[in-house]
Amino acid sequence: MSSGHEYNLTHGALSPVDILAIGPHPDDIEIGVGGSLIRWIETGYRVGLLDLTRGELGTKGNAETRRAEAAEAAERMGALFRLNLGLPDGGVEDSPAARGRLVPILRECRPEWVLCNLEDSRHPDHAAAARLVRSAFFLSRLPKHLPEHRAHSPALLAFYLIHESAQPSFLVDISATLEAKLEVLRAYGSQFVDPVVPEGYRYAGLSDYLKNVRALAETWGALSGRARAAEAFVTDSPLLLRDIGQWVSRSE
Ligand SMILES: [Zn+2]
Repeated sequence: MSSGHEYNLTHGALSPVDILAIGPHPDDIEIGVGGSLIRWIETGYRVGLLDLTRGELGTKGNAETRRAEAAEAAERMGALFRLNLGLPDGGVEDSPAARGRLVPILRECRPEWVLCNLEDSRHPDHAAAARLVRSAFFLSRLPKHLPEHRAHSPALLAFYLIHESAQPSFLVDISATLEAKLEVLRAYGSQFVDPVVPEGYRYAGLSDYLKNVRALAETWGALSGRARAAEAFVTDSPLLLRDIGQWVSRSE
């Protein structure tokens, strides 16, 4: 890997993963999909994390503190690695240059599932991140695109919600991992310090992080009618079911 990729917990070549979760800024992955990732890691799936920027424009904290916090959060979650693509915060673009950095990572760690935040977001980096990941997801399977890296066709691209209101394609039950998710989020200490902000400043995102994350998870859980807490995902195409055993128990 190039030196632009930071805090690689594997300290070497990227290990293969079942799931690669991608987020625009350190902590977006945990907010959106932390409970599901913890659940899947506990089940035995291999999970890698990729932040697109270092979050240097964030009102709270700075790039250096967020780097250490992101590494700590990845350890708490049990992810195999956490990389940073080093794109400029506030300047994420679905450009040939950014695709040229992302496609080789997809091809090296070869995930079956790729997760990213939803495009429909107020933050321009979030909207651009979803477009970039959608493009790289597609290009990764084309053998003649960047032929020096062996093509890889992941099975599913799913977009997680952070604090958007959207009709989910599916929900993941995180009743058993919500508290662990909040514990992972507590690694981001800089996000709990009230920063000095200009007069009249209005937060665009989650001002009280843990409270909001819990409220949203419990809301999705309530809407599911079956779970105490859940995380929501949107897919571009309908999911194909094979085994219905989760809902239907065979009568004798
Ligand atoms: Zn973000």
